[in-house]
Amino acid sequence: MIDSHCHLADDAFAGDADAVIDRARAAGVHQALCILDAGHPTELERASALRHAWPSLRFAVGVHPHQAHAHAARLEQVAQTVERALDAVEGACAVGEIGLDFHYDFSPRELQAVVLRTQVRLAAERGLPVVIHARLSEGDVLDVLEQAGRRRLRGVFHCFTGDRQTVERVLRAGFFVGVGGILTFTRAHDVRDTIRQVPLERVLIETDSPYLAPTPHRGKRNEPAWVARVAEALAELHGVSCETVVAQTSRNFAELFGERDR
Ligand SMILES: [Zn+2]
Ligand SMILES: [Zn+2]
Repeated sequence: MIDSHCHLADDAFAGDADAVIDRARAAGVHQALCILDAGHPTELERASALRHAWPSLRFAVGVHPHQAHAHAARLEQVAQTVERALDAVEGACAVGEIGLDFHYDFSPRELQAVVLRTQVRLAAERGLPVVIHARLSEGDVLDVLEQAGRRRLRGVFHCFTGDRQTVERVLRAGFFVGVGGILTFTRAHDVRDTIRQVPLERVLIETDSPYLAPTPHRGKRNEPAWVARVAEALAELHGVSCETVVAQTSRNFAELFGERDR
């Protein structure tokens, strides 16, 4: 079982990351993709200790749309910041998470768009997959990806909450759909209806730890071990066994991010 999106280098895990990793492995989670903020030196420094504790751990580095404002004064350096982080972090295999967030709007939209386009270009140049964060902005993100996509850009829309038409466009563009704890929330009927339309061959499971803990842990700090709850919910949704979900989503992860380190 693979947690395709977690923030293990976040301050939330600074005190007990080793115990969190032990619990994940004990729960059958054999790998995870840890998202790092390229502009956050402490997170980048934590990567090597995390990987020492969990050798199969892989990383994505990028500038999150929430953080775009922090780069406003030196937008021309965003690509270099991400490139340096990619080169510095052993096990880095993707650019992310990157995207647009029109729900929180923590950074001006035009600034978010510039930072996204820069990183999409970088990923295309490097032949790396992208981890996409899109809230109320999936169409705009797809426009950017499709403009850059002549070189067959690949990636995942993590924690997907868009509607049916949007998910069809994501699938047509060749992207994977990331599914997390929201799938387990009692009232998340719309998300379940959308995800039911997505073939298992195109789904990745994730926690987005420390955020979005699945039921029955909702409201607590999330952790990679609980990706098992997401796998169960997805299995139930598709009427297949949990083993089927785990095997297929693990194959999908390998297809997108590669079998081994670069
Ligand atoms: Zn996100
Ligand atoms: Zn995230």
